Amino acid sequence: MKPGAAELDRRITELLADPAYAGHPLREALDALWQYTAEQMSRIERVTQLSDAYQSMAHERELGLCDQFDRQLRRLSRIARISDHYQNMMRDLNAALEETSSRDPLTSLLNRRALMEMIKQEVQRASRSGESFVVAMLDVDHFKAVNDQHGHETGDRALVELAGALVQSLREYDLCGRWGGEEFLVLLPNTQPDAAQHVMDRLVGAVRGLAVQASDDVLRLTVSIGMAHHQLGETFSETLSRADQALYLAKQDGRDRVALGFPKR
Ligand code: GH3
Ligand code: MG
Ligand code: MG
Repeated sequence: MKPGAAELDRRITELLADPAYAGHPLREALDALWQYTAEQMSRIERVTQLSDAYQSMAHERELGLCDQFDRQLRRLSRIARISDHYQNMMRDLNAALEETSSRDPLTSLLNRRALMEMIKQEVQRASRSGESFVVAMLDVDHFKAVNDQHGHETGDRALVELAGALVQSLREYDLCGRWGGEEFLVLLPNTQPDAAQHVMDRLVGAVRGLAVQASDDVLRLTVSIGMAHHQLGETFSETLSRADQALYLAKQDGRDRVALGFPKR
């Protein structure tokens, strides 16, 4: 209560208690007014208390919601981290799976499936850009005899060493894979037959230079190669078939050599 209000309170209480004013009509009116004011005051007091209580409740509720929000946010970011982790794992696994499914387990070269994909891509690229490619089929000469004389295990090792020699003799952008058995396939993107002939001669020479250790012997290998220059408008299997026919010619001509497939008529 303000000082002025306390003074007024004291004066009115005195006036009401003064017997000199007993029975005076203004005293009764003042008494009634004073009681009415007291009631209003206590009502205001109650409303103020209620309003304070409501405000503090609302504040606490707000704090509670913020807490909940923070908690949910932390939970969500934890879930997002776990999900990222699993997604990365899946990506790595997929990449590993893709890698394994496109590699030959013995030589680690591209396998037939991957080679087919590459050739198809090259055919598409050639039809778009007009830059054609050369495909070459390599077949190890008389390999059955290698197995017969030195055993299958040495045969396997010979294939691995031969694969290494092929890769080392190729240019960075050339592709080499195992077509199956003792057959390999080489893909020379954006290459003309003359340049391809040089690369193939180098491959034949590299295989000739290989010395595979076989128990108490040194094993020598040769390869025959048939190559074909992809012609625009040709399907990939037509190009492959011409390379295969050229390989047959190289074998017929005495092996350890390169033959170029005739262009399609
Ligand atoms: P050619 O000069 O006519 O090609 O004679 P070749 O003996 O190489 O041909 P042939 O097709 O008669 O024999 C291929 C041999 O290659 C027979 C097979 O056992 C051997 N071979 C195929 N794949 C593998 C392999 O993964 N490991 C081993 N060690 N030998 C293999
Ligand atoms: Mg063969
Ligand atoms: Mg062979």
